[in-house]
Amino acid sequence: MNEYLKNLNRIEFVVTWACTGRCKHCSEGEHTNCGEHLDAEVAAQAVYDICKLYPIQSLMTFGGEPLLYPETVCRIHQAAKEMGIPQRDLITNGYFSKDEKRIREVVHMLAVSGVKDILLSVDAFHQETIPLEPVKCFAESVKAEGISLRLSPAWLVSKEDDNPYNVRTKEVMAEFDYLNIPEGSGNVIFPSGNAIKYLGEYFKEGELPVNPYEDDPKDIRAIGFDPNGDVLGSNVYRNSIVEIMDGYKAE
Ligand code: SF4
Repeated sequence: MNEYLKNLNRIEFVVTWACTGRCKHCSEGEHTNCGEHLDAEVAAQAVYDICKLYPIQSLMTFGGEPLLYPETVCRIHQAAKEMGIPQRDLITNGYFSKDEKRIREVVHMLAVSGVKDILLSVDAFHQETIPLEPVKCFAESVKAEGISLRLSPAWLVSKEDDNPYNVRTKEVMAEFDYLNIPEGSGNVIFPSGNAIKYLGEYFKEGELPVNPYEDDPKDIRAIGFDPNGDVLGSNVYRNSIVEIMDGYKAE
C-alpha cells in the first residue's frame, strides 16, 4: 500500500465545471452552461477499484453544477452504494431544469441511485443568477423522495457578520422555511477565483478563513477526480486508478 495514502477514506468527484450559476464568490472563476464532464463508467469503475483496497467512509459529487449530468452522478452513487460507502453526498445549486416533470424525474433517479444527503447551495450569491422557483421545486421533490436535505449557504467573513450579503442570505433561506429544511454547517467564503475579483474588499490580510480545498500531499485522506479525469497528478483515462495510486509520490 502506498504510504501517502494509508489514511485514505474519502472519494470526491467534480463531475463538471459547467454550471447554471454565475456566482460572485465562486472559487472556480468563470463557468459555461455546458462542458466537459466525467465519464460515468470510468468514474464508477474507479469507485469499485478504490473500495476494494481502502475502507472508504464517504463520497461526494459536486461541481460546477453536477446535475447538468445526472446520469453520471447517479452512476457514481450507485457504485458507492454497491460498495457499502456509508456517507454519500451531493452538493448542488438545485437548478438544472425549469421543467417540473424533469426535476421530479431527476430527483427520483437520485433516490434510486442511493444518494443519502443533499446539500443545497442557496444564498445571496447563488440567487443573484439562479431563480428560486425551480430550486424550491427541487427541494420539494427531494423531501418527497425522502432524501436527507440541508441548506448550505456561503457566508461572507463569518455567519455572524452583518454585511449586506449575509442579510440577503438570511432572506433567501427564509424562502425555504415552509419546508423545514435544516441548515448544514455552511461555509465561509475563501478568497480565490471570483471571490477575490468581486469581494476582495471583505478579505483582510492576516484574517483569512481556513482554506477548505487543501489536503496534505503526504497524507492524502480524500482522493479527488476532476471532470477531465485528472487525479493524484495523473489521469484516469490514461491509467487505471490502481496504477495511479500505486505510483503516487508526494511532491
Ligand atoms: S458557486 Fe457553485 S453554483 Fe455558483 S457558479 Fe460556482 S459552481 Fe456554480
